[in-house]
Amino acid sequence: MENCVFCKIVRGDIPSKKVYEDENVLVFKDLHPVSPVHVLIIPKVHFENVHAMSVSEEGLAALNAMFRALPEIVRLVGLEEKGFRLINNCGVAAGQSVMHAHFHLIGGRSLGTKIL
Ligand code: AMP
Ligand code: ZN
Repeated sequence: MENCVFCKIVRGDIPSKKVYEDENVLVFKDLHPVSPVHVLIIPKVHFENVHAMSVSEEGLAALNAMFRALPEIVRLVGLEEKGFRLINNCGVAAGQSVMHAHFHLIGGRSLGTKIL
């Protein structure tokens, strides 16, 4: 997508701090981290959100690739032993601000027991 900020990151048009990359998946540091570790896991192909991914075979394949990469990503950011929270905001009402599907992987501090 021409004007999508995460597609621009995939293309290398704007910089990012990459922590993992494969054929289908890119992981980079969030610009405004909420915890010592805060990275974004995105599919390289543009999907508006996780719902859009889940209703298409191509999207489901991309989700599969993202979850297949998760153990390696978690290892690279040092959260294998500590644990982590994986968050997805799907749609404006849920707080999605960048309309390219992504998961927040956060950790490195105690996150408490509440979702909100
Ligand atoms: P969400 O609100 O779930 O759509 O999350 C979007 C996230 O993208 C926010 O946590 C932003 O800090 C992050 N973000 C926006 N632009 C960039 C960027 N250029 N590089 C890294 N993270 C970004
Ligand atoms: Zn995009």
